Order: sequence, then C-alpha cells, then structure tokens
Amino acid sequence: MRHLILGVCLAVAPPACAQGIADLSPGARDYVEGNILGTLYHEMGHALIDQLDLPVLGQEEDAADMLAVVLAHGLWEEDYARRVAAATALSFLLSSQEGNETSYWDVHGPDEQRYYNTVCLFYGANPEGRADFAELFELPEDRAALCPEEFTLADESWGAFLYEIELEEGADPATALTVSDGGGDPEITVLLQDEITDLNAIYALPEPVVVHHEPCGEVNAFYFPETRSISICTEYVDYLIEQAIGAEL
Ligand SMILES: [Zn+2]
Repeated sequence: MRHLILGVCLAVAPPACAQGIADLSPGARDYVEGNILGTLYHEMGHALIDQLDLPVLGQEEDAADMLAVVLAHGLWEEDYARRVAAATALSFLLSSQEGNETSYWDVHGPDEQRYYNTVCLFYGANPEGRADFAELFELPEDRAALCPEEFTLADESWGAFLYEIELEEGADPATALTVSDGGGDPEITVLLQDEITDLNAIYALPEPVVVHHEPCGEVNAFYFPETRSISICTEYVDYLIEQAIGAEL
C-alpha cells in the first residue's frame, strides 16, 4: 500500500514570485539549492520504498526525511552537506512560523518536529564535528544526547538497502534517473541534472525514474508510484525563493 501523493509539507498559497535563483544573494541561492537537493533525496526515499518494496516500520514520510539526511551526510563534503541539512531544517522552521495551523492529521509530522529531527540526525552523524551546528539550530541537550544513536539507526537501516543498489567500483554509470525539463528555472534543471548524474554514478535504481521540474498548481514535490516519477514543482522553487528573501538570507 503506497500513498498516492507524497511530498514535502508546504501547504501554503503559491507566492507571486517570478525571480530565478540567478537573481538571488549567495545565501539565498545556497538555501534554495540545498532545499532542492534535500527534497530530491526525500522523494528518492519514496521511490526506493516503492521499487524495492521496503518495509517501513513507522511513518513513510519520516523514513524519507531520514534518507535525505543520510544522503546529505554520506554523499557530500562537510561544507555542502551542511548546506543541504541547514537549508532543509531552516525551511521546516520558517514554514512552522508562517501561521498555518498544524495539521496533526497529515502524513507528515509537524514542521517543527521535522526541523528538530533533521538537525538531530545531521548532528548525530558527526557529534564531535558538528557541536556548533547543534548550537546554531538550538538543539536541546536532552535530544542531542540521543542523536548519535538515532543517526546510526537511520544510516544502518537505509544503508542495508542502498548497498543493494550500489554500483561496483569501475562499473558503467546507471541510467535509471533522468530529468525532464518542464519549463522551470533552467538553473534548477541543471542542478537536478548534475545531481542525477552523480547519483547514477553511485546507485542503480531497479526501475527508471523521471524527475520532472514542472508547474504542478501547488507548492509541493511528489513521488508518483503509478508512473514512477518525481515532480519538483516550480511553485515549490518559487516558495523557497520567497522564504529566502523573507528571511533576508
Ligand atoms: Zn514525502
């Protein structure tokens, strides 16, 4: 049983925003790019759960959020890993401050919880090297003490299945992931293409997955099991830009 619609929890009105990321300050650009990669990893989590028929012992959305941190930590050097984790966490925090009523019925946990979970897992992956990260994001000590174990559990749980699709060293890159340009910001499309090239060099998904960067009519991102496709909505990119400008990044 799979959810039909799975995506980040950003149920707000689409902003009237026509700016592209090329017009942004470096901080705002980092924020948008970091979030796009974190969201791509999250949606890849849904794709892997679907394609590998993975057991999910809890909320699938939490499992997908965990994969986003596991991949940000595992695939990137420290500076960029921090950029992805910080952007993802900050977006949850900003979203929680937008005055929307918390939807406890939603398949996603509340934004504030997703914020602390993201900060905790990323800190827990390297507690000695990321004490400043935990401090900056105000992770309470009581939770911080548990985070190394939480990350180990997430890393080992996802790692067992990532290992199954990891290419052998020297193998030709996979071709399962592709990007379809649906008319969004060309720089975001290039970002997705570059990331997918990197992912195809490491992992071979069992079935093809097309990543669409396209208008969806709402601020969101999705994995569709029926078509085995991911949509990164242009409205979501616009929303991230609005968040970045609003937070004066
Ligand atoms: Zn999701």
